[in-house]
Amino acid sequence: MRRKIVVGNWKMNNTIAESVELATAIAEKVGDDGVICEVGIAPTFLALHEVGKAIEWSAVKLSGQNCHYENDGAFTGEISARMLVAAGCSYVILGHSERRQYFGETSQIVNLKVKKALAEGLSVILCVGETLEERESGVTDEIVAAQVVEGLAKVTDLTNLVIAYEPVWAIGTGKTATSQQAQDVHAMIRAKVAELYGQQAADHLRIQYGGSVKPSNAVELFSMPDIDGGLIGGASLSVDDFMAIVEAAG
Ligand code: PEP
Repeated sequence: MRRKIVVGNWKMNNTIAESVELATAIAEKVGDDGVICEVGIAPTFLALHEVGKAIEWSAVKLSGQNCHYENDGAFTGEISARMLVAAGCSYVILGHSERRQYFGETSQIVNLKVKKALAEGLSVILCVGETLEERESGVTDEIVAAQVVEGLAKVTDLTNLVIAYEPVWAIGTGKTATSQQAQDVHAMIRAKVAELYGQQAADHLRIQYGGSVKPSNAVELFSMPDIDGGLIGGASLSVDDFMAIVEAAG
């Protein structure tokens, strides 16, 4: 049985004080026993350390939104996996479509980051997903499968890996993939992973859906057999909405 996982990606929102306030409210609702699904939050880099201290007592996991593929060095403006671990993170989101789209991240760069983050002991949420144009041209499976294969090149163990399927056209647009559209791609990803890593690894791999998940559509999405929770953007900035989504996965 795969344990569902819901992670809030706060993107470039909230000051340190606002982040601590939101994180504290979420931690109070989630508590310290982790009986509901696995829950994580990904504040901005600047707020990670303070948020980490505020939620340390709870079952809420701390995640970075990105990291570099080197540990240290002359990479102005970057943050390494080693630094995320030291700041209290156990997860990092890699290959988010906004990173691919606005910051030129290729699957090869994402792959370097995935390998480094895993080597440093972080669990990785690897994001994949097609654009609207790709979906309309009928190449969704091809594009997503290639992102999985390239993102995981030379990764041998998937124990600490989660894949987030996030159709680009559904992120922040209010348009959600139907539960069947999402299920079809999740099943395709699982089959691809089975081909690469064997059925057992594929059966254990958690695949989150992301793209305008809200309290009103979470239950239906999370009831699909290959959808193991969600990566949540906009709705994760409201305690009530986020917790309703967490409960839908619970
Ligand atoms: C995301 O950024 O990962 C995301 C899914 O955003 P939203 O929920 O706002 O569509």
